[in-house]
Amino acid sequence: MRKQLMPLEEALAKIISRANLVTDQQMVPLLEALGRVLAEDQCSTVDVPPCDNSAMDGYALCFADLAASDYLLPISQRVAAGEVGRPLEEGTTARIFTGAPVPEGADTVVMQEDTKQVSESVRISREVALGDNVRPRGQDIAKDSVVLKKWQTLKPQDIGLLASIGITHVPVLRRLKVAVLSTGDELVEPGKPLGPGQIYNSNRYTLSAVLMALGCEVIDGGIVADDFQQTCDQLEYAASQADLIISSGGVSVGEEDHVKAAVESLGELMLWKLNIKPGKPLAFGRVKDTPFFGLPGNPSSVFATFCLTVRPYIKACQGQREVSSLLVEVVADFDRSGSERRQEYLRARVEEEVGVLKARLYANQSSGVLASVSWANALLVMPPKQAVVKGDKVKALLMSELLT
Ligand code: AMP
Ligand code: MG
Repeated sequence: MRKQLMPLEEALAKIISRANLVTDQQMVPLLEALGRVLAEDQCSTVDVPPCDNSAMDGYALCFADLAASDYLLPISQRVAAGEVGRPLEEGTTARIFTGAPVPEGADTVVMQEDTKQVSESVRISREVALGDNVRPRGQDIAKDSVVLKKWQTLKPQDIGLLASIGITHVPVLRRLKVAVLSTGDELVEPGKPLGPGQIYNSNRYTLSAVLMALGCEVIDGGIVADDFQQTCDQLEYAASQADLIISSGGVSVGEEDHVKAAVESLGELMLWKLNIKPGKPLAFGRVKDTPFFGLPGNPSSVFATFCLTVRPYIKACQGQREVSSLLVEVVADFDRSGSERRQEYLRARVEEEVGVLKARLYANQSSGVLASVSWANALLVMPPKQAVVKGDKVKALLMSELLT
C-alpha cells in the first residue's frame, strides 16, 4: 500500500514546534550586527533631529513678520550646518543652509530658488506657508521611542538607523551553530582532481552559503561515506558540536542510504517523506538531543528543501514563529500539464514586462540540475494536479525573500 506523503504545512507545524529559541546574547560593534538578530528592543535617548533645522538652502524668517515687510527682509545673520545662530532680530531674515538649526524666533524657511538678493536684503518671490522647509525636532525619531524591536534581523538601513541615535554596540542573539554533513562515496571537495565516478561536493557549499546568509555559524561535518557505522559516528560527533545538524543525500530508500537508519538508532525520526517536488525524501528528527534535518542529495532539491523547511525552523529558533514567506502573484509565460501529484516548486525567473510580472521556467526542472536554482530568482508554487496555460496567474516565492 502506498503511504500518504505529508503536506508541507503539516510538516512545518511539526518542525516549528520543535524549534529551540536561542536565548544567549552578545554585544557586537554596530557594523558587525548586520544580518544578526536583535536581542533587545532599541530605544532612542535622543531626538532626531535634535533641534528644528532647515531642509533647504535659503532664508529663515518669522512667518508673522512677512506681511508687514512686504516680502523684503534685511539679512541679519548667516547660519551654516554645524553652527548655532543668534535669536532672530524682529523683521529680519537669516541666511541658512540645509541641516543648520533654525534660529530662535524663526519658524519658516524660504528656499533660495524662491528669493532674490537685493544688496543686504532678500526679496521673496513666492507665497510662503508657516513652517515651510523646517524639519521639526524629533520628526525622524522621538526621544524614548522604540526604534527597532527585539527579534528583528538587522538590515543595512537598520544599522544606519541605530547610528543615527548614537549607538555603537548592539545586543544580538548568539549565532546558531549548524553542522553540515555531506553523504556520498562519490563526493570530492573542490580543489582536488576528480577520479572516475566522482563529482564535486556542491551541497556543502550551497548549504554553508545559505546558512551564512541567515546569520548562522557553519561547522563542516565533512564528507560521510555510505556506510552505516561511519554515518552514526559522524552524526554523533556533529550532535556534540552543534545546535542543529543538516545532512544531504543518503536519505532515500536505496541500500546505500544509511542516514534514516542511523538517526533512528541514535535518536528519533519524526518525519520522513513530504508531498513536495523536489524534496520528497526529507527527514526531520534528532540525533541524541540535537535537532536534525536530512535533506535529499540532489543539489537543486537541497536548495528548495532548505528554503521550505530549514529556513522557517532557523527563523523560529531566532524568535520568528510566524515566518512569512511572501507569495507574489505572477503571470505564467509557459504551459504545463497538471499530472504531478505532489506540490511542485519550479525554478523560474520572474521579470517585469510592460508592468506585468512574468515567470519563465528553466527548461530542465530535474532536481539534479543546480544551474536551475542559480539561474532562477523565484520558486513557483504549483499545487498538485494543477495544469497551467500561458497567461494564468501563479504564485511565486521570491528567492530574495527566502535568503534573508
Ligand atoms: P542520494 O540522495 O544520496 O542518492 O543522492 C542523490 C543525487 O545527489 C546523486 O546523484 C548524488 O550524487 C547527488 N549528490 C549527493 N550529495 C551531493 C553533494 N554533496 N554534492 C553534489 N551532488 C550530490
Ligand atoms: Mg548518496
